[in-house]
Amino acid sequence: KPMDGHQSTRFDVVPHPAPTAADARAAMVANPGFGRVFTDHMVVINYTEGRGWHSARVEARKPFLIDPASAVLHYAQEIFEGLKAYRTPSGGAAMFRPEANARRFHNSAERMAMAPLPESLFLESVRQLVQVDRDWIPSADVGTLYLRPFMIASETFLGVKPSAEYMYMVIASSVGSYFKGGGDGVTVWVSQHDTRAASGGTGAAKCGGNYAASLRAQAEAVRNGCDQVVFLDAVERRRVEELGGMNVFFVFQDGSLLTPPLDGTILPGITRDSIIKLARDAGIAVREGQYTLDEWRADAASGKLQEVFACGTAAVITPIGRIRNPEGEFVAGAAGTAGGPVTQRLRKTLVDIQQGKAADPHGWVHTV
Ligand code: PMP
Repeated sequence: KPMDGHQSTRFDVVPHPAPTAADARAAMVANPGFGRVFTDHMVVINYTEGRGWHSARVEARKPFLIDPASAVLHYAQEIFEGLKAYRTPSGGAAMFRPEANARRFHNSAERMAMAPLPESLFLESVRQLVQVDRDWIPSADVGTLYLRPFMIASETFLGVKPSAEYMYMVIASSVGSYFKGGGDGVTVWVSQHDTRAASGGTGAAKCGGNYAASLRAQAEAVRNGCDQVVFLDAVERRRVEELGGMNVFFVFQDGSLLTPPLDGTILPGITRDSIIKLARDAGIAVREGQYTLDEWRADAASGKLQEVFACGTAAVITPIGRIRNPEGEFVAGAAGTAGGPVTQRLRKTLVDIQQGKAADPHGWVHTV
């Protein structure tokens, strides 16, 4: 039965021995890195042109077969999402703004000419996986459960056209917390040659190809002793866009915030949107506007620019400490390489809401 737009969807749950909380904890202690400890279930939903979405199921996580002529392997019709489930103080589980990820996934699908997954089905799929694998959610002081919904073009056909078949899946990974509080912020490398996205391109979509195209610059960053790349605009190579996997905010001496605008070349981050709303709630002025690397360097030197931070689901909010390019290096903001009070305060406000330790004025936390 097609499932487009349905409220309650039946997922066939294929039983699989559930882990114990002790197994999950042991896996986290053994390897707390990002994206290597996986839970033991996955969600799969199929799409067939003319039939719609069908065969929703939660089953044992395992490798699967696809034909060598599957469209995704040749023309890269692929999109994904990333969101987290948190352990709440009462021992339950909650997700942060999953409906925003459902919307962005829908928008990404449209940009890549893929069949959009009904948002209600996306929400139900992540909810089901968190429920089955809830023992894999680390305790709040240790980490979170990172959810990875994704979709591939699965038609067996070498013609260049939108696929007539898709596979949507959700997998999950127990992850430790990213933020190294107290120490130096990250050092970012300015990509001189490679850009991430041009106007009219796919920069606002969360498609795998954007990340494939960013890897050379990321590798260059690591070779130059940096943690992350910062991309500049594709036209003049002057304006700051975003990092490889995070948006960026500037904090000025007058207390105001600035972040690059959503003009189609950067990913509309859900953390970015949350920070804008929380800052405005706190009476902080936030501008979405362009900012060049030259302005950044000058304002950091004059003291007009105090703090700079990166934000995204994985790292939440991380101070940017230094900027480096082949000509040299400068300290990102006058407050120093470890960030400053505005970065710290915004991070605490956001994390406390996510972990259920503070009131949730916008209704962002969905208990599972
Ligand atoms: N920009 C890029 C390129 C990203 O991959 C991400 C991570 N999804 C972000 C920004 C931050 O988005 P979010 O806050 O929704 O995780």
